[in-house]
Amino acid sequence: MEFETLCLHADLNIKDEWGTLNQAICQSATFVHKGVDEVSLYSYSRLSNPTRRHLENTVRKLEEGYDAYAFSSGMTAITVAMLLIEKNSHVIATDDLYGGALRLFNNVSKDRQIEFDFVDTSNLELVKSKIRSNTKLIYIETPSNPLMQVTDIKEIAKIAHENNLLLFVDNTFLTPYYQKPLNLGADIVIHSGTKYLGGHNDTLSGFVVAKNKELADKVLFYSKTIGGQLSPFDSFLIERGIKTLPIRMDRINENAIKIASWLKENPKIKKVYYVGLNDFKGYEINKKQSKGFGGMISIEVESESLAKKILKDVKIFQYAESLGGVDSLITYPMLQTHADVKKEDREKRGINERFLRISVGIENVNDLILDLKQAIG
Ligand SMILES: *Cc1c(COP(=O)(O)O)cnc(C)c1O
Repeated sequence: MEFETLCLHADLNIKDEWGTLNQAICQSATFVHKGVDEVSLYSYSRLSNPTRRHLENTVRKLEEGYDAYAFSSGMTAITVAMLLIEKNSHVIATDDLYGGALRLFNNVSKDRQIEFDFVDTSNLELVKSKIRSNTKLIYIETPSNPLMQVTDIKEIAKIAHENNLLLFVDNTFLTPYYQKPLNLGADIVIHSGTKYLGGHNDTLSGFVVAKNKELADKVLFYSKTIGGQLSPFDSFLIERGIKTLPIRMDRINENAIKIASWLKENPKIKKVYYVGLNDFKGYEINKKQSKGFGGMISIEVESESLAKKILKDVKIFQYAESLGGVDSLITYPMLQTHADVKKEDREKRGINERFLRISVGIENVNDLILDLKQAIG
């Protein structure tokens, strides 16, 4: 089956006695055993639940992994995945990470005596130079958030495996429709399903997809030990979102290319960060490893007052955190996603008071451009 079909029919094993077309929402914490010595498919919903399992099977097939597990948020997924890394280990991670991941690594992971080097992972030589005897993991986002740095997944996987390290890739921005890190050599793929997979800004969720049985068994062990699984109803909502993932991504990608190109021609916009612009730094590598560019655009405008005016005056774009939904959003990383990052650290990388991040939705692109035009003034 091709990807678009898998989004609807990845798990055909859903026929129940009513013949429901959609996987029924199985709102049960526990399941009745058939007999003393008979193994049942389900026993308790922290271990597994039919609605959640159906969704996990879909995501596993879309990412072409060995198995997938669904959690109540992207952060829960990252937390569980990081438990695969034993204490006293060293990790090399993208410096331009999702703010929540940075907070987790700098606090909770650090408390487990895990040390981090945050570097620009698009620089392969720099990554190599950071490897130590206790390095266990390379953790990347590509394109990164919000600077859209592109890391060559195949090359970084080669470095990881030559040195016996694991490679985790947060694939939230491009989704398996555009990019399949496991096929490029990653060991674990992580998602905030809250974003493009769910796609409607209405449900939090997260996924960990493992390449092989050994890693999948470890994820399941920590998952059943800790909890934090996705509820049956939320599993249903994310599954419903995934059915339209390809057509949403197509429209978002098309809109984003037009908006980024338009922004680039506007003299009040000093810099446009979008991997779909053919003179953007990561363009070639992204094109090589992905089938699309996605809908995330960052911009640096000419002044702080203009950044604030745009946030105040947009009418269709909504000034809100998050990304990946059908609605176009705009956010101020300095005040939202990167509020916890030290001022000098973020400013050094260009995340200053003139910097905005846009998540392009599926509205008519002319309306979106007109909205930006009137807000920029
Ligand atoms: C939002 C996000 C997360 C965290 O996911 P939640 O569902 O909000 O917990 C992790 N990684 C990336 C890239 C994200 O955009």
